[in-house]
Amino acid sequence: MIYLNNKEKLEKIKLNKDNFYVIADFDKTITKSSPNSTWGVVANAGTLGEEYKKKRNDLYNHYRPIEIDPNISDEEKSKEMTTWWKKHINLFYEYGIKERNIKDAIETGILEYRKGAKEFIHAMRDLNVPIIIISAGIGNVIEEFLKWENDYFDNIKIISNFIVFKDGIIDRMKGQTIHALNKNIVELDDKSKMQLEKRKYILLLGDGLGDLKMISKNDISRAITVGFLDEKIEENLEPFNNSFDIVITNEGNYNQVNNILKIY
Ligand SMILES: [Mg+2]
Repeated sequence: MIYLNNKEKLEKIKLNKDNFYVIADFDKTITKSSPNSTWGVVANAGTLGEEYKKKRNDLYNHYRPIEIDPNISDEEKSKEMTTWWKKHINLFYEYGIKERNIKDAIETGILEYRKGAKEFIHAMRDLNVPIIIISAGIGNVIEEFLKWENDYFDNIKIISNFIVFKDGIIDRMKGQTIHALNKNIVELDDKSKMQLEKRKYILLLGDGLGDLKMISKNDISRAITVGFLDEKIEENLEPFNNSFDIVITNEGNYNQVNNILKIY
């Protein structure tokens, strides 16, 4: 089902290759809605052993329902998400995650594009439209996935949680932790800012209300925001429709997005 919530804005803003850039979430936005997120692939592919897998899945089963519960306040959620992310990173240290574990997991084909996402990424490459991926997931997994798909193009920039490896084993995490609700902490570097400056509009793609924080409140009026809604649809439909310009439910795909926006 497709909901067009801001017809006036959609009438007014016409995207073309020279006037916009893409700000996209990764998990369940560029990939399809499945239990396999960038945090889950190493566990679910089993490349770091059974014990880690069990502990990771226990964390997921406890915290994921909190993440998508519309009745828990943002403040409370934010606290819980920070704890979840920290506990998971501790497991990476405890079990000594290797760069190889990530590569091996990706090579099992455990992560898959949302329908039409590959074509979308190729079209943006061909049109020279920048894509900024802002992910609360693991940047290394995103990189490996895009490389494995042969889609890690120059127009793509990834802002995410990165594991720094030393001799192939985890050494430390880089920078501040980005979780599902604090994407507003992300700051672009000056070079990217300059590159984006002359582009007037933004196409924002996400699958959670927290993804709207990828841009500032001031930028909302110059952005077309698209929300994919696949989980707890009934409960989340109203808040999604109040927040995103376009909402697509039940495994929405990029062809539907392009049919509305006619970019390529
Ligand atoms: Mg997501």
